[in-house]
Amino acid sequence: MKKVREGLYIGCLDDALKYLFGSESGITHVLSLASLNFLTDDKSLNAFSAFRMRASLRSSLMESVKNPNADAAASRPEPVTAEQAAANRAKLVRKTVPLIDTEAQNLLDYLEECLEFIDKGRSEGSVLVHCVAGISRSATVITAYLMRSERLILKEALASLKECSKTACPNKGFKRQLRMFEEMGCVVDKNNSIYKKFHLENLGNMYGKGQKIELLQFAVDPSSHAENQNPSGGKSGTFFRCKKCRRLLALQGNVLAHAPGAQEKPYKWKKGDEDETSTSQVPDSCAALFVEPMQWMTTVQQGEMEGKLSCANCHSKVGSFNWVGVQCSCGTWINPAFQLHTSKVDASWT
Ligand SMILES: [Zn+2]
Ligand SMILES: [Zn+2]
Repeated sequence: MKKVREGLYIGCLDDALKYLFGSESGITHVLSLASLNFLTDDKSLNAFSAFRMRASLRSSLMESVKNPNADAAASRPEPVTAEQAAANRAKLVRKTVPLIDTEAQNLLDYLEECLEFIDKGRSEGSVLVHCVAGISRSATVITAYLMRSERLILKEALASLKECSKTACPNKGFKRQLRMFEEMGCVVDKNNSIYKKFHLENLGNMYGKGQKIELLQFAVDPSSHAENQNPSGGKSGTFFRCKKCRRLLALQGNVLAHAPGAQEKPYKWKKGDEDETSTSQVPDSCAALFVEPMQWMTTVQQGEMEGKLSCANCHSKVGSFNWVGVQCSCGTWINPAFQLHTSKVDASWT
């Protein structure tokens, strides 16, 4: 266990077990970032505790056989009964977040609650943030904490953490999420298009694993907000409506902008006048408006990989979706893609 700041420690599973099963004191709050059943279930915690106790007694016994002159008592853990361990554990304030250490793991969605827990824990005592090895998951959360609480950029926060714990090393996917956190101003802002793209990517991963995608995981239907029905109510920005019936389909905030032709192109789609200075939301070279999935897109519920998007009012086709992605006419690949065809929607200020 390494001290990072006053009242903030980073550690591995073994460090946490000393507090969860032993008589170790000095920590009041334990944040566990691991998907291990015994961390959340008291019965299996006790069973695991007894198992560990036997294992450590056995190893200290072996040690005293091998090395009879050593002070065996010094290396033997203080015996703690399961009841005592449970009583010690009951004094701890605990939070467990079931994260696995893979690049695809969504950590961003849990970050705010973790940071809150650390903040509260430090104000009331001392917090141990641990995962299994104390290298990736715990380092990611603590780096984010330092970024926010000490207004450090990612690089500085990670360097500062490494000074306390050399092995700290968020995995590639976590590092990318930390960069998003940085770009969003050290908050997980669900209205930020950075977050929205990340969320859509996660939905795509879930789809890829065959998990059911609930409409509730989609953005609210802009048409369900009363204030959007009455544009003079002060809402500003562009309204995208069905060309045929004028039903509101998307607001400016639902649009996920992309840089035209930014990503690697399998082939050159368009020769010549590529205007890089263009900053408009929908460049001329894009024939579609890519949006976040919204709750009116009920055809997505049928579980197909790709399909049509129909207007929720007049049912005319307004676009399409494809979980694997499509290439925009400008050359950029959008993955997954939910697109409204610019020929089927009107952009207006009212
Ligand atoms: Zn485009
Ligand atoms: Zn319509």
